[in-house]
Amino acid sequence: MARILPPPALPNAPGELRQDPLGGGWVAITAGRAARPEAFLGDVGTPRGPLGCPFCPGNEHMTPPEVWADRDPGTGPDQPGWHVRVVPNKFPAFAGPVTTAHHNGGLYRSAPTAGVHEVVIHNPDHQATLADLEVPEVARAMAAWRERLAAHRDQELGAVLIIVNQGRTAGASLEHPHSQVFATAGRPDRVQAELDRLAGQACAACATVAAERDGPRLVGTTGDLLTICPWASAAPFEALLLPAAHQPRFEERGPDDDTAVATALRDLLRRFRGVAGDHAPYNLVLHSAPPGVDDFHWHLHLLPRLTTYGGFELGTGVIINVVDPDRAAEALRASGS
Ligand SMILES: [Zn+2]
Ligand SMILES: [Zn+2]
Ligand SMILES: [Zn+2]
Repeated sequence: MARILPPPALPNAPGELRQDPLGGGWVAITAGRAARPEAFLGDVGTPRGPLGCPFCPGNEHMTPPEVWADRDPGTGPDQPGWHVRVVPNKFPAFAGPVTTAHHNGGLYRSAPTAGVHEVVIHNPDHQATLADLEVPEVARAMAAWRERLAAHRDQELGAVLIIVNQGRTAGASLEHPHSQVFATAGRPDRVQAELDRLAGQACAACATVAAERDGPRLVGTTGDLLTICPWASAAPFEALLLPAAHQPRFEERGPDDDTAVATALRDLLRRFRGVAGDHAPYNLVLHSAPPGVDDFHWHLHLLPRLTTYGGFELGTGVIINVVDPDRAAEALRASGS
C-alpha cells in the first residue's frame, strides 16, 4: 500500500519548539529534516556504500562549506587532505540567531529552534566506526569535539551537546560515521536536571565516582577516567565515562588528555561490540557545562539501542531495562576489547 506522507519542507525551513499542553514536555517540529534521505525508518534500504557519500573524501562539495577541519598542511578548505572535518548540518534541526524569545499563546507555547547544528566527520574512512579507528585517530575526533564546544562557548546558549548516532535504529541517516553538535538557545529539562545534580559539594557524579570506583559496576579505569554501568541504567549495557575529578568542561582538557578519552571510549565501544555484536546500534551523549555555567562534572553516556520502547515507557517515562547493570558490567569486563 502506498504511504501517504506530506512532502518535506525546504531543508532550511525554520523549525519550532512546542510545549505539549498535556504533558508539559517540549518537542522540536523540524519539517525540513523530512527531506533527508531515509528520514523515516520505513524507508531504510540496503547500505549505500561510499559511492555518492557526502562525507567521503572527494565529495566535499556535497556538504555546506566546512567550518573547521584537521587537515594536512598545504591542503585547502573543502578539499581532500583532512583527518576530521566539521560542516554545518545540511538539514539543521536548530539554526538561526540565538534568542530566548518565547511565544506564549495561552494553550500553545512555542519558541524558535534557534541555535547551531553541525556534523563532525570522524575520519575519511567510510566504514570505520569509533571502535574500528586507532587511538590516535579517535583522539583527533576528540580534539574536534573540544574545538567545537569551545567555539560555541561565547554565545548565550542554553546547552551545547555532542552526540553520536551509530546505526540506523539509533538515528543515523548516513552510514559514514560522524557525530553531531547541537547548540540550543533554550536549556532542555534533561540538561537542567543534571546541572542541578552535578554541582557543588553534593555533586552526584563525584559521589558516584566514590561509590563505584571499587564496586561491581566498574568496567575499568583509564588514566583519570572511570567507566561504570550506572546503578539505574535505562538500557542494557548502558555505561558512563567520567573523570574522577570534578571537571566542568570537556573542552578545557588539554590536547594530551585526548588520548586518555580516546583510549577509554574505544575500549568501551570494543567491549560493547564484543557483548552486543558488530553492528549493535548505540548513541553517545557528551554533557559538558553549558556556556555561562562553571560548576558541573562533564561525562559521556553510552546508550545502547538494543531494545525498543513500548507503551509503558511512552506512557510513564519509566524505562524497563531487562539487563541488571551489575551483570552488564561483568559482561563488559569479560569482553575482549
Ligand atoms: Zn562516506
Ligand atoms: Zn563532581
Ligand atoms: Zn548526562
